Amino acid sequence: MIPRVGFSLYMKKLFIIANWKSNKTIKETEKWFHDFDKEIKHNPFSLEDKEVIIAPSFTLLEHARYCSSNLKLHIKFGAQDISSFEEGAYTGEVSAKQIKELADYVIVGHSERRRYFGEDKEIIKKKLRISLQYTLTPILCISEMNQILNLKSYILNHEIIVAYEPLFAIGSGHPDTPVNADEMARGIKKELGKIPVLYGGSVTSDNVKNFTSMPHIDGVLVGGASLDPLEFLNIVQNA
Ligand code: PEP
Repeated sequence: MIPRVGFSLYMKKLFIIANWKSNKTIKETEKWFHDFDKEIKHNPFSLEDKEVIIAPSFTLLEHARYCSSNLKLHIKFGAQDISSFEEGAYTGEVSAKQIKELADYVIVGHSERRRYFGEDKEIIKKKLRISLQYTLTPILCISEMNQILNLKSYILNHEIIVAYEPLFAIGSGHPDTPVNADEMARGIKKELGKIPVLYGGSVTSDNVKNFTSMPHIDGVLVGGASLDPLEFLNIVQNA
């Protein structure tokens, strides 16, 4: 089950999600966890009041989980993609049932998948359906409002997370303005109800708070800056 945004009277629960994309080997993953843990021990800080999720490549998921649980870190895991097919003769695909053994979340419809792998509304619908069927919480990435409107009847009343990631901001060093991102988040909630809405695009430890302090933004999706464990920890701390 998705931890619904834990609104207490004063605080919202924040989601801080790392998308490692096609980066890191097993050895590099070990080092990331080692350095992340060392810094936390040095400067004690609880990860429990935030939902920290790492989305590494499929090849790293099992070992990353092992490193995290060995170090007793409160980190959850997500996959970066999912097959739109169930198990069977689909060479190269990784099915929901396989992902479910290793992760609680799955990123669906990232703009890089739409752009480089031709993912359209129909494929994204299938991926959402199969994620929900296997109780994997989808993190649906969108860059424009019409991508929500196109899927609205389909995702309404489902427990999903939406990440608003404007194309110009991804990997560019030029984030959207917090006011604009908050306005998008407000619009998404108006269409879909009280679901968590995140901002993604050139988030760093210096600008994260500008986004997470906005009233309709429930966290961030972080690409490049999540590859460095110390910078990612600073993002979690500053959020
Ligand atoms: C992303 O690709 O989801 C992303 C947010 O990337 P970056 O943080 O590097 O802009």
